[in-house]
Amino acid sequence: MKSFVIVSIIVILTLLLAPLMSSCQPEPTQLPPTPTSTPMLTPTPTPSLTSTPAATELEVHFIDVGQGDAILFDLQDIEVLIDGGDRTSGVVSYLKGYVDGALEVMIATHPHADHIGGLIDVLAAFEVKQIWHNGDTATSKTYSDFMSAVNAEKAKVSVATGGNVIEADGLSFKVLNPANLKESTNNNSIVLHLAFGEIDFLFTGDAEREAEGVMLIASDMPVPDVEILKVGHHGSKTASSADFLAVTSPEVAIYMAGGGNTYGHPHEETIQALLAVGAEIFGTDAHSNIVITTDGEKYELQLETTAPTPTPTPTPTLTPTPTPTPEKVANVQITRIFYDGLVKSVESDEYVEITNLGTGSVDLAGWVLKDISEGYSTFIFPSYVLQPGKSVRVYTNEIHPEYGGFSFGSGKAVWNNTDPDMAALYNAQGQEVSRKSY
Ligand SMILES: [Zn+2]
Repeated sequence: MKSFVIVSIIVILTLLLAPLMSSCQPEPTQLPPTPTSTPMLTPTPTPSLTSTPAATELEVHFIDVGQGDAILFDLQDIEVLIDGGDRTSGVVSYLKGYVDGALEVMIATHPHADHIGGLIDVLAAFEVKQIWHNGDTATSKTYSDFMSAVNAEKAKVSVATGGNVIEADGLSFKVLNPANLKESTNNNSIVLHLAFGEIDFLFTGDAEREAEGVMLIASDMPVPDVEILKVGHHGSKTASSADFLAVTSPEVAIYMAGGGNTYGHPHEETIQALLAVGAEIFGTDAHSNIVITTDGEKYELQLETTAPTPTPTPTPTLTPTPTPTPEKVANVQITRIFYDGLVKSVESDEYVEITNLGTGSVDLAGWVLKDISEGYSTFIFPSYVLQPGKSVRVYTNEIHPEYGGFSFGSGKAVWNNTDPDMAALYNAQGQEVSRKSY
């Protein structure tokens, strides 16, 4: 069993005060807490046991699996798991401290390796009674191994779509997304609303702005105002639109990301957007395992690591960036366009590899990678220093955090679709520096 330090008790206002609260917008003049300067929570002097202990308490564990998602619900002897991190997540050893007998429900939000990879070991270690996935497919070995494990399990297997309700004694998850499957794997993520008494949670998988927009206009399933939001797509700016955050209006926002991940998650834009709606922000990169305990009226937040990290700003942007000279810039080349339909045993679907063949480091901020055959697929690099002799990958379909790199965000193969196909790389001044055909 893990021992946690309770660093804060957030008492939900009584029902008398609740309507008053919900009608209030965050004070625009009140400066949000800076996540960098002080710990966001201070120990409360109020004893935690002033109210009558509830008969039934729910624990929601946001498990630190590095760059990936894994969320465990523990309600007495009922356990539900959303995602399992990647294959190296080690989630099984964490679950062993909490799962009594079988796991009632396993939910795979979408078939990316940082969500389903760890579920393969979970299926081997535990009996699972119900399995829900989104019906989307992937070409990776992780996905085929996962589906083999699902099929080998004697579980009830269901595909979740908007309007479904996933039931596990006492826990009822309403499915808000996907309405129907689209090309973008992330946007097909299963999004779940859990209401436990007065406390509302929203779990968004890797749903991005596109899915948020679809959910916001679905009148039959309104997006709820919640106390706790699992921030979409590891805190990427591709998710967490202002409109979506305004409606969900979370008190507590939890993103799940690995420390120093190469995507720069969580993005500063997301942090600012969450602060703008008055959310307190916590991340598994900074706080490791995060547990919320609720009796349905109030909730407590427990952090395994109380020391705040220096900043939620991604490491790459903090790296001192030497000014590249034109001579060095010319040495950054597209060295590979890789597609795994040709190499069966390798997991990565498709990526472009960019290598610094020069002798000085180069900051790729503002550099652009383009599929010029199609003319519309474009990736713009954030600040990222590519050291001499090093390579960085830009994935177009499945993302593999274990190898590092960036995501094109297209959710599909970009280069392996037309013939011939061409990738071009432009520097921050818009000059083409490299071109390679697939
Ligand atoms: Zn993910």
